Amino acid sequence: MKKILLALISFVCVSISHAQKTYIWCGTLIDGISNDAKKNMTIIVEKNKIIGVQNGFTAPGTSDKSIDLKSKTVTPGWIDMHVHLEGETKKGNLADRFTLNPTDVAFESLKYANVTLMAGFTTVRDLGGSGVNISLRNAINKGQVTGPRIYTAGKSIATTGGHADPTNGYRKDLMGDPGPKEGVVNGVEDAYQAVRQRYKEGSDLIKITATGGVLSQAKDGANAQFTEEEVKAIVSAAKDYGFKIAAHAHGAEGIKRAIRGGVNSIEHGTFMDDEGIQLMKQYGTYLVPTITAGKATADSAKIPGYYTDIVTPKALTTGPQIQATFAKAYKAGVKIAFGTDAGVFQHGKNWMEFGYMIEGGMPAMEAIKAATSSSAELLGEKDKLGSIEVGKLADIVAMDGDPLKDPLAFGKVVFVMKDGVVYKN
Ligand SMILES: [Zn+2]
Repeated sequence: MKKILLALISFVCVSISHAQKTYIWCGTLIDGISNDAKKNMTIIVEKNKIIGVQNGFTAPGTSDKSIDLKSKTVTPGWIDMHVHLEGETKKGNLADRFTLNPTDVAFESLKYANVTLMAGFTTVRDLGGSGVNISLRNAINKGQVTGPRIYTAGKSIATTGGHADPTNGYRKDLMGDPGPKEGVVNGVEDAYQAVRQRYKEGSDLIKITATGGVLSQAKDGANAQFTEEEVKAIVSAAKDYGFKIAAHAHGAEGIKRAIRGGVNSIEHGTFMDDEGIQLMKQYGTYLVPTITAGKATADSAKIPGYYTDIVTPKALTTGPQIQATFAKAYKAGVKIAFGTDAGVFQHGKNWMEFGYMIEGGMPAMEAIKAATSSSAELLGEKDKLGSIEVGKLADIVAMDGDPLKDPLAFGKVVFVMKDGVVYKN
């Protein structure tokens, strides 16, 4: 008996000394870079990396395993550059800010992280929350909970009364003056302090709210809220820490100040004018459109009492404009990355953005690149993410149907691998 046991142990040891490879047979492969889909391909994964991409269905070795996706369309895992995993829209949720503890927010966010990954989004940028988004990222990275790979801004940076001032709409004696520690800045010195505070708290990037926004308890959804000098100070401080800078911006003037100030992406871009489009091209700034959020907020605003009276008119005028601006900017040659603002609508429906981009004039193959290689570039992670190539992390999704012909296929994800681990099959 002892001998058999010893033999068994040595056999097991030999087996794990040769790392097991996974051979993924793909009926159709869209790699995130080339313009054509390839038929009958095999992706070879070892540990968390892609080590081979071969024509035909390659047979695995005796100690390897295979995954049969011969009837599916396979793409790199999708990247959503604009989500808020700490919450999700619901009618009249203003009171949540006074009733939910950070622990409540944390438990809710687990659900949202999970559905996001299961929908095929293996990487997201969380563009603003209370800081629970930093803990969530850490827990996912440790393998304690299931969710996408998160790059988080932590708390967004705003100006007093601006979009993302956490005390907007509060009773006067509760408003206080949050200051740079809470992400509210006025002037150059505050800007430096706020960026350094985000570094201290563990953010991966910086998010600023360059103009008013739809869902804040404030009158104007598009006014410029930073001076160009303040934007430049934030960008300069952010660069000291290797941070990218994402700027929420709806109004034309705030968009231009943010671009000239040196941000890496304009989020929404709703009322961008021709000069703004030219500046985007000149500076190489990305547009992250979030069309889904625009449509969803405009729809919700038609439900009586869904939003407060100060928010409703902004949602009705801002939301429907986003797709048209996206269409114009794309046609003009502005760089586009994929982002939805999920949380403003239900998490897990991020895939709908593909359909809205296609409807706006972007070919399906380009929309897939926007959600893979282009987003990886904007993240600054092009060497690791965004394509099915040797050496990249094994983030792979598969769906039923042909997404190049039918945008609804993006909602039929049947297989999700992140970092070499299968989460859905
Ligand atoms: Zn947002």
